Amino acid sequence: MHQLRIGVLALQGDFREHIRSVDLAGYEAFALNRAAQVDEIDALIIPGGESTTIAKLARSFDLFAPIASAIESGLPVYGSCAGMIMLAGEIEGAASGQESFGGIDMKVRRNAFGRQVDSFESDIHFVGIAQPAIHGVFIRAPWVESVGESVEVLASISTESGEHPVAVRQGNLLATSFHPEITDDFRVHRYFIEEMVAKSGRPTR
Ligand code: GLN
Repeated sequence: MHQLRIGVLALQGDFREHIRSVDLAGYEAFALNRAAQVDEIDALIIPGGESTTIAKLARSFDLFAPIASAIESGLPVYGSCAGMIMLAGEIEGAASGQESFGGIDMKVRRNAFGRQVDSFESDIHFVGIAQPAIHGVFIRAPWVESVGESVEVLASISTESGEHPVAVRQGNLLATSFHPEITDDFRVHRYFIEEMVAKSGRPTR
C-alpha cells in the first residue's frame, strides 16, 4: 500500500499539534489549506480551535464545499473539539448562521460544560483502545447531546446532568470532545489511522 496521505485542516486552531500526534503514531500528515489538496488525501483531521472561525475560513478559502462533498463520499475524517462541531449534523448553541460540514448524525452542544468547568481533565475509557485510560483534556468543549442509530458511542463522561458522549464514530468519521493532540498519547490518532483510514476500503492510488 502507498504511504497514507493525511491532511490536517490548517485554517485556525491546533493543527500543528495534530501533525505532531500523527508523527508520534508513526505516520505522516501535512497542513491542508487549498481545495486542490482535498482530492489528494486518504484522510482529513479537523483540529480544535474555534468552530465559527474554521467554518468562515473554510468558506473564504473555497474549502467548504470540497470538504463537505469528500465527507459525503466516504473520506475518513477525525475532528477534535471544534472539529467535532464541524462534523455535527446539528449544533446546539451555534452562533447565528454557523455552518458545519456535517456527516455525523448527532447534535452537539457547544461550550457544554459551562463556565465554572470550562476546562478540565478527566480519564476516559475509550471503546477499542485498551487500558490505561486516555487522559482527556477538555477546553471549552462540546458534548454530544443526542445521536442517531448509526452512531457508535466510544466514550462518555458523567456530569451532574448525566452521561454525555465525548467520543463517537459513524462509519469513517470519528469525533472527540477532548484534545489528544495536546498530550503525548497518540493512541486515538493511531486508532483513527489503523482502524479507520487503513481499513476504509477506499480505492488506493
Ligand atoms: N468552544 C469552541 C468552539 O465552539 C471549541 C473549543 C476547542 O476546540 N477547544 O468552536
